Amino acid sequence: MTTMNAISQHGRLPAFLAGGEPKLLFIDGEWVEPVSGEYIECKNPATGKVIGEFADGGAEDVDRAVRAARRAFEGEWGSTKPYQRQRILNKLADLLEENRDELSRLETLEMGAPLKRTRAAVMRNVERLHWAASQATSLHGDTIDNSVRGTYFSYTVKEPVGVVGMVLPWNGPLGSACWKVGPALAAGCTAVIKPSEDASLTVLRFAELCLEAGVPAGVVNVVTGRGPTAGAALSEHHGIDKIALTGSPQTGQAMVSASVGNLKRLSLELGGKSPDVVFADANLDRAVVGAAMGVFHNSGQLCAGGTRIYVESAIYDEFVERVRDFTATLRVGDPFDDATQLGPLVSQRQLDRVMHYIGAGSEDGARLVYGGKRLTDGALADGYYVEPTVFADVTDDMRIAREEIFGPVISILRFDDVDDLVTRANNTPYGLAGGVWTSDFTKAYQLSKRLQAGTVWINCYLVMDTAVPFGGVKLSGYGRESGHEGMEEYLDVKTVWARMD
Ligand code: NAD
Repeated sequence: MTTMNAISQHGRLPAFLAGGEPKLLFIDGEWVEPVSGEYIECKNPATGKVIGEFADGGAEDVDRAVRAARRAFEGEWGSTKPYQRQRILNKLADLLEENRDELSRLETLEMGAPLKRTRAAVMRNVERLHWAASQATSLHGDTIDNSVRGTYFSYTVKEPVGVVGMVLPWNGPLGSACWKVGPALAAGCTAVIKPSEDASLTVLRFAELCLEAGVPAGVVNVVTGRGPTAGAALSEHHGIDKIALTGSPQTGQAMVSASVGNLKRLSLELGGKSPDVVFADANLDRAVVGAAMGVFHNSGQLCAGGTRIYVESAIYDEFVERVRDFTATLRVGDPFDDATQLGPLVSQRQLDRVMHYIGAGSEDGARLVYGGKRLTDGALADGYYVEPTVFADVTDDMRIAREEIFGPVISILRFDDVDDLVTRANNTPYGLAGGVWTSDFTKAYQLSKRLQAGTVWINCYLVMDTAVPFGGVKLSGYGRESGHEGMEEYLDVKTVWARMD
């Protein structure tokens, strides 16, 4: 592994931060101060330095935003034609593309992902919004001519769910906003977004672009703040018809309880501890890089990471060696440097968590084959950098094999028998994703059927597309984002019966 020598000054400061004033809440098309008068600092994880402040919103701010979203839903937005919503979403997508440089810089500054990655992510979000726009004019129900006694006729129509609360994580703030806002607006819903307290700035800039794209006041609102206050107020609010959360299982469980009052709909994209299975007949050149980057991508801060790599005994030692050698080539450092592959972790809290698990791996008897240390050399000293880390000889009972770390830590386990492997791979409360590497497609197909997961990748990992659904089972949540299924999350079905005689 190579570390960069210097942390750049991050080139130009994104225009959005230029004035230095604290960022306000975005409610009903206006920037407003939080009732608390308090603000939260946002730190650059590469340097630990404060780069801005945003409002610490609370229950009263949430209430104000929900009322605005309700008025918009029942007013102007509720009577827009699908093609108008389509045009607005296409315009929003174009604005994201035009502002790609600023958006990617903002996201890199506030959460540390390499600029190369955030630039690519903006374009994926452009695609997402265009795709959602295309859905706005394709919504339709069914006609069901059961001709009950020749007298009755029925049909269904798809209607927007209503006002949607969107609670976002920090590991891809713009992406998780677009995954939700795109289909919600296409369906005709309105939104109150609560970004993560660790990464709110990019979402606030996104709100500005919504306004510029012609999204009417009140249709998209952003209340920044903390989970237990702003997030909880949104989950409990009876003016919210649905919550879409991307976050941890603990937050998902809190939301299920909080939603009981008005039985709001929920879609929960939660955590994972996904198995990635490498058979002896796999193309190892691909499997080594694919499985390793299936964990190290975004410095391991990804829900679908294949963090339990099960390797068939016959190739176990070779695989471990090759993953170690590959990991040694990865460049960790300044996320604004084009050569960087892994930036810092998002926060001191996340760094502490990852270091805790690295310690647990060694304590529980796993063999550390690469990494394991916080990086503090030179310009990295004040950032939240950790070496990409590889543990071998991991067993299923170890903490690093059971618990979600959300950092660049690979656990490599050994297997011999496929039935036993399936039991072990599924012996987790999570069910987000899984991977299979083999040159025998029948074997891959059969294993994909047996893995308890929302997504299984065969001879690849982490491939996503806006037309393809993504989501989990078990403690990884329910509901889907993307694709046709993702659209349905924002639609209710109304059945109409008519007597025809
Ligand atoms: P988190 O659950 O701590 O926070 C997510 C959001 O929920 C934040 O906006 C937070 O403020 C809010 N929140 C926290 N407590 C709340 C409460 N009691 N009521 C309402 N809102 C509350 O998760 P995180 O640390 O931001 O993100 C990491 C987690 O998210 C990991 O478990 C990861 O696997 C998961 N994740 C899942 C996906 C997916 O698509 N499945 C994607 C990214 C991250």
